[in-house]
Amino acid sequence: MHILVTNDDGVTAPGLLALVQEMRNVGQVSVLAPDHNWSASGHVKTMHRPLRVWETKLMDGTLALTSDGAPSDCVALALLGYLSDKVDLVVSGINPNANIGHDVTYSGTVTAAMEAVIGGVAGIAISLHSPENHKDELDYGPAARIAKRIVERLVSQGMNPQLLLNVNVPYLQDDQIKGILTTRQGLRVYRDRLDERLDPRGRPYYWIGGDAPTAVPDEGTDYGALSRGFVSITPLDLDLTDYRVLEVIGKQDW
Ligand code: MN
Repeated sequence: MHILVTNDDGVTAPGLLALVQEMRNVGQVSVLAPDHNWSASGHVKTMHRPLRVWETKLMDGTLALTSDGAPSDCVALALLGYLSDKVDLVVSGINPNANIGHDVTYSGTVTAAMEAVIGGVAGIAISLHSPENHKDELDYGPAARIAKRIVERLVSQGMNPQLLLNVNVPYLQDDQIKGILTTRQGLRVYRDRLDERLDPRGRPYYWIGGDAPTAVPDEGTDYGALSRGFVSITPLDLDLTDYRVLEVIGKQDW
């Protein structure tokens, strides 16, 4: 089992290190992750500039590869031949914040896993639902151990190369986590606000700011599980067709 570990927070992120250390218990691990933070960069394919890859070391001395490409570029590089050994699974994370509901369309963590599936390899995104305004270092240990437990289970069942899982872990100690629930995407409530400021020459510029998003804790959803202390596993599909609408508009005479 050859596991590629990547993320969207950059190769030096502590969440990546925690994930690498647990994945080593499951198989051979390669790391190819971005050289800086690409959070909320969406699904990227860099086409108008070259990509560079170079060697680096994680905090524990592990040899890793890093690139100036996006998370999805890192996965594409690895699967298209930068890594000579065939990759069996891509695990992305651990992101310091949850990726629930519509977040999956913004998330670099999730789009790295999506790129894996496009490349014919199963992809798993792991995110930690850390408390808002958390100032101290986050403890990624419990989420990394959950990732190991999930990957071990999948490996024992035989890996489906179409499999795309979005995993979110509540910020709790191992014995406080209530269990693992399979869920559907819930509803994020974004509270974005356009913040206009003036540069020193009097010209306006903009931040998309506002308060952190909340979410609706409906039962059966990703956030519903997290809010009750459960790990959430949401299977995703890159087919974004709305079959309910297709059914309706398919009957219309266009
Ligand atoms: Mn991130």
